[in-house]
Amino acid sequence: MLKKPTAVISSLTMPWVALLEGMAFSPEAFSEDRERWSYSGKRGPAYWATLDDDFASCGQGKNQSPINLTQLLDGELPEIELHYPTQGDKVINNGHTVQVNFPSGNILRMEGQAFELKQFHFHSPSENTINGQSFPLEAHFVHADKRGNLAVVGVMFEQGAANEGLQPAWNQLPLHAGGQETLDVPIDATKLMPSSLEYYRFNGSLTTPPCTEGVRWLVLKEPVSISKEQVEAFQRAIPFDNNRPVQPVNARVIVQ
Ligand SMILES: [Zn+2]
Repeated sequence: MLKKPTAVISSLTMPWVALLEGMAFSPEAFSEDRERWSYSGKRGPAYWATLDDDFASCGQGKNQSPINLTQLLDGELPEIELHYPTQGDKVINNGHTVQVNFPSGNILRMEGQAFELKQFHFHSPSENTINGQSFPLEAHFVHADKRGNLAVVGVMFEQGAANEGLQPAWNQLPLHAGGQETLDVPIDATKLMPSSLEYYRFNGSLTTPPCTEGVRWLVLKEPVSISKEQVEAFQRAIPFDNNRPVQPVNARVIVQ
């Protein structure tokens, strides 16, 4: 069983707005959230919408994430720009994922707007799939603009050579829910990016309760590598599949 957390941590999942403001919350609130929903059983994805009135979008939403990226529409997608001068300094196991938090100053520019990087975290196996293909790990780089609008950049990992960019966080992966570490070596998010920033673009949601919609999603086309040992290390920290099943695309278009 997972130990009751003793550290004060922040989390994307509860409440996500607080996380975006960089606030911490109490261990009690953290523990309560961790137990509110899960990835299997009676609190699993099929039941999320029934667990709390605030989770209604998980069931009623028409633009939910993740999705299988297929039937891609060819478009003239503008280049995105990443300006990431500051480094991540904290790694957290919130019981649902492992997350690296960033101080302010890292900017994604897309469609003439600026979004600041707040954190990245991981899902294993991947949540989004590409033409039906799943990957052993997917990273979500969560950005917010000044109004709280979210833009998430998804990066797929395929098994191969060890990923050096991940290693500062992997060296200090908290193995228990509620654990957090200050990184001895800060993490440079640019080192987790593939050489090409070409992407697929669609609208979606948070992939965890409350499944809030209106999230700009960009999934990078080029995967990066991760070793089998690194995937296994993540699975020791999060010892269950933490991917929500793919959701109906409905009326959305996926542009490439
Ligand atoms: Zn995610």
